[in-house]
Amino acid sequence: MIPDKIVIFGTTWRVIKSASREDVGKGDEMLWGLCDFSRREISVWTGGDTNDAQVTFYHELTHAIARETGIRMSEKDTDLFAKTFVDTMLRNDLRLEGEPKKVGRARRAKA
Ligand SMILES: [Zn+2]
Repeated sequence: MIPDKIVIFGTTWRVIKSASREDVGKGDEMLWGLCDFSRREISVWTGGDTNDAQVTFYHELTHAIARETGIRMSEKDTDLFAKTFVDTMLRNDLRLEGEPKKVGRARRAKA
C-alpha cells in the first residue's frame, strides 16, 4: 500500500500517485518517481505494475529519509538500500497487507 502521506521525524510528506509518468516528471521527463525536497512531496507512477510502484515508492521514501536525517546517499546507494529494505521485509514476513510479494526490477528514477 502506498500511503497518501508519510511522517518522517514529525515532518509530513505528501505522496502523490499518478497514472501518468509525464505528470510525475512534471512535464519535463517521464519518470517512475520523484522526491521534491522543497515541497516535501513524493510522486510515484502507479500506471504500471503494482510491485514496481511499491519499490519506486520506497526508493523515493529513502531519498526523503536521507534528506530529513542529513544522511548522504548516492543514487546508487539509495536504490540499493530501498531494494534491500523491501526484500528484507518480504523475506522476514514483515510485509504489510497489500504490499508487493517480490522486489521489482531496476528502473530509472530521479531524485
Ligand atoms: Zn532516486
